[in-house]
Amino acid sequence: MVIFKKLADIQRYIATQRADGRLVGFVPTMGALHEGHTSLVQQAKQGADIVVASIFVNPTQFNDKTDFEKYPTSVEADVAMLIEAGCDILLLPSVADMYPDGTDSMQSYNFGYLDTVLEGEKRPGHFKGVGQIVARLLDIVKPDRLFMGQKDYQQCMVVKNLLQQLNSTIDMVICPTKREADGLAMSSRNRRLTEPQRALAGVIYQCLVSISTKQTEGNFALVQKECADLMAAKGFEVEYIALAGANDLTLLDNYDINRPMVALIAAKLGDIRLIDNMLLQ
Ligand code: AMP
Repeated sequence: MVIFKKLADIQRYIATQRADGRLVGFVPTMGALHEGHTSLVQQAKQGADIVVASIFVNPTQFNDKTDFEKYPTSVEADVAMLIEAGCDILLLPSVADMYPDGTDSMQSYNFGYLDTVLEGEKRPGHFKGVGQIVARLLDIVKPDRLFMGQKDYQQCMVVKNLLQQLNSTIDMVICPTKREADGLAMSSRNRRLTEPQRALAGVIYQCLVSISTKQTEGNFALVQKECADLMAAKGFEVEYIALAGANDLTLLDNYDINRPMVALIAAKLGDIRLIDNMLLQ
């Protein structure tokens, strides 16, 4: 794996790869890698000739300063995992290179409704930061295919919207969520859970399964309350337990079998915020 820190160097290298006819796959990350990230790299290997990953903890997408300061980093272990997964190129840029003129002067994108619900509502400014950094990274790497995780469902919708705004031909591939044995979605933030918190964290997945399987009962409000009570009893501070249209994230009061749906949960255990979702069959 070739590691680049300087933007001009990686751009030159990728340009020669592209000139040789290679299809470029890209996996952007914030590091503290786990098997969810490496599954993206493995899928990128299947769908592209060379795989570029990036590690950049983007300060502008953290609405919570403590979350940013406590975000885990483990670059050496990350590099080893990426090599093991078969990643070809790693970009490790600096904040100064990513934001040479500061963040205020950067082009920002409007995601409309998507920026007002669920993660948009709970994390003001988050998707603005995501839009800016993804646009910047895409401009540097210029991939043919972009691989992102369904784990961050709303982020995938925002990035799809961004690609439309950019009139981009980049093909976005949404990869399934990798889970621990108890169903907990893998996440860099899981590292910060204490042992007792970690033992409880699988409840989020249990609630998503319950929302999915209780569709036949037809009363989402009841299932939502059961889940909220269960999570509160376990010590979670629930931010939302929501049902939405899978294509547009319209919030739904009840199950609607005539449309694809997604259940989404955000909750805090102590100061660690966890999110997860499940597409309903
Ligand atoms: P992050 O480093 O958290 O910004 O995530 C980088 C990419 O990995 C994003 O596209 C995430 O959606 C994806 N990702 C994070 N966790 C998982 C997971 N458990 N399974 C699959 N993809 C994931």
